[in-house]
Amino acid sequence: MRCVTEPLDREERDARLARQPSLDELRTLAEGCRACSLWREATQTVFGDGSVRARLLFVGEQPGNSEDLEGAPFVGPAGQLLDRALVEAGIDRESVYVTNVVKHFKWKRARTGKRRIHDKPNRGEVEACRPWLEAEVARVGPELIVALGATAAQALLGQGFRLTRQRGEILDSDLGATMATIHPSAVLRAPDEREAAFGGLVDDLRVAARALGRVRT
Ligand code: SF4
Repeated sequence: MRCVTEPLDREERDARLARQPSLDELRTLAEGCRACSLWREATQTVFGDGSVRARLLFVGEQPGNSEDLEGAPFVGPAGQLLDRALVEAGIDRESVYVTNVVKHFKWKRARTGKRRIHDKPNRGEVEACRPWLEAEVARVGPELIVALGATAAQALLGQGFRLTRQRGEILDSDLGATMATIHPSAVLRAPDEREAAFGGLVDDLRVAARALGRVRT
């Protein structure tokens, strides 16, 4: 675990957050987060990144292997696919902010070989990490949050949210107007239907782009 700042347990983390740190200060503080156990097996905290004045804020589940090693969100294969989908939807990648509901990579060893593969964070880990997400949303102040995948969608819109039924709908969450779509990694996992899955993602992103200026904030 790479860490250049002081370790923060949950209590200390929450006390620091109560002092309303800036986005840059949040990023530095998060490097030392120990509010759940996921930091132990990860390389580093992967905090959000992007425009501090973003009108669209994207939230995924957690960093993947590439993100864990590079220390930046959405830089691996799923991130590259998201970049292509944003271009197709007419959204400037530089104008958005991207982050995850969980800031450390949770992984397990593949049955064969040394590959580290994604392991879904549990509800306790998502809840432990939520204050970081709340602080990011508060600092950026987006018009619309776009949850990518079921874990992010349920973290924001409740456990009863069903991506299969409600993707592309703009709903109210505790953090503001929120829409959910599939995670770009789901497109990568659909080799036989990849084109259709990619098209569906782009369609949802177009809905998000068109909603800007219309959603209540
Ligand atoms: S996953 Fe979130 S809450 Fe858990 S240690 Fe990492 S930053 Fe802290």
